[in-house]
Amino acid sequence: MPILVTKDLKLPSPPAIALRILEAVKKNDASFSDLARIIEVDPALTAKILKVANSSFYSMASQVNTIEKALSVLGLNVTKNIALSFVIAKELVVPVDGGFDFNSFWKRAVTSAVSAELLAARLSYRNDDLFVSALLQDIGVLILYLCRSDEYRQVLDEKRVSGRPILDIEQRIFGFDHQEVGAELLLEWGLPTTFADTIRHHHDSEGCPEKLRMQVDLLHWSSMLTSIYFGSRSVEMGLQLKAEICPRFKIKEEAIDLLIDMVAEKSVEILSFFEIDSGDMKPFSLLLQDANEELRRINLSYEQLVMQAKQARKKAEELATELLEANVKLREMAFRDGLTGLYNYRYFQELMDREVSRSKRHHLGLSLMLFDIDHFKDVNDTYGHPAGDQVLRNLAELVQSTMRISDIVVRYGGEEFAVILPSTDLPGCKVFATRLRRRVEEMETVVSGMSIRVTISIGVTGYDTAQNSLEKAVMIKTADSALYAAKNRGRNRVEVELLPA
Ligand code: GH3
Ligand code: MG
Ligand code: MG
Repeated sequence: MPILVTKDLKLPSPPAIALRILEAVKKNDASFSDLARIIEVDPALTAKILKVANSSFYSMASQVNTIEKALSVLGLNVTKNIALSFVIAKELVVPVDGGFDFNSFWKRAVTSAVSAELLAARLSYRNDDLFVSALLQDIGVLILYLCRSDEYRQVLDEKRVSGRPILDIEQRIFGFDHQEVGAELLLEWGLPTTFADTIRHHHDSEGCPEKLRMQVDLLHWSSMLTSIYFGSRSVEMGLQLKAEICPRFKIKEEAIDLLIDMVAEKSVEILSFFEIDSGDMKPFSLLLQDANEELRRINLSYEQLVMQAKQARKKAEELATELLEANVKLREMAFRDGLTGLYNYRYFQELMDREVSRSKRHHLGLSLMLFDIDHFKDVNDTYGHPAGDQVLRNLAELVQSTMRISDIVVRYGGEEFAVILPSTDLPGCKVFATRLRRRVEEMETVVSGMSIRVTISIGVTGYDTAQNSLEKAVMIKTADSALYAAKNRGRNRVEVELLPA
């Protein structure tokens, strides 16, 4: 394999078939059949060229089924260029390599070629060499990578990190750039000089010879069109493209939008002829639509998330409130008697502690009254236990409606109750006890048409700040003793007993 040495680079030799094609067309008397014979030696190449000729790219009126027919309808130059594109692309497809994505390189190259071709048609500019020029514009990158992998990886990394123009980085590291390398390669391979000239200036519209300017501009726009599909700043690239083209050629932005979409459609088709995976290449307008849809979905799910979070918070707050209420209820239940709803014996002890210490602290009077239903056993025996319960409930209500709001009534035992009267002296308590006794006497409980009447015996004691010391146990014991006395002295009566001095 002959090795051509330029600028220290070992350039790959041209594919043999490319050389033969180039030789054939160089002859002055080049005939269709000469070129056809060279191409037809390679059945795979023949099939590819026929596929292109019959593709929507050229929209032929009739089926093109031989290379000679292709040559007659597409022309010698176009057919030759299609053949060269395939031959060169095939030659330079290198298996997957960690540092360089060859599939992606050729995908971009073919998309650029398609873009250049479509844009030229839209601008009514005709140049048979455009497809190949666009396809091979960055061939220098590939060559540099193949010849100087380590240094070129450095170029690519630096470009990724700094975003600086690739030509600057190449110049600094190698002293030349991929434009020159690409041009040299095509010259070495014997391609017509116009290819090399165009590629030598494809990043330099201003510095290039006037006659190449349109071609160079088209290559520049073709890489912008390609970047819309494979770059990271697609929307920005589209806007820039329109800004450069629309005013200059007086065409509408919508026309460029259509062109951008068409690039995807045609590229997918042409890529398949090159046997390059086009991936998920969709028209840009559809990609935008998908992106908007995705954005809408993300926004929606964000809103949903916020909503769910709000609901969850509300629910948590509700639960916390419920829990608090339940706790209060539970506490209440622990302190309350189920039958009458009055405080129970347990809570009575706590209440007495509280009231005793409060009386002591503030030097306030405190009275305690215990009462018990007379002969209640008989009530149960006569009317039944449920009727007895009803009497107990009735009595509880009556006591509550009779006493002051600050007084506390407790179900002390079965049919025995206690009333704590804060800030109340013994005479006051006695008045209340007497009134209660009378009202109970008058109370009537009607169960199943039967009228039940009961009486109560009451024992009372009271704390006088001037005379007594105050102790809970003593106070309860004294009230109990007074109740016992009331029972003994005939029931349905109030008995008072003083606390010890
Ligand atoms: P005394 O006048 O001496 O107090 O006579 P008594 O029959 O009331 O006294 P005793 O202590 O002998 O009986 C109390 C009765 O109270 C017995 C019991 O069945 C009844 N009792 C206690 N708790 C309840 C209750 O919750 N419901 C009902 N229906 N009866 C109860
Ligand atoms: Mg009793
Ligand atoms: Mg009793």
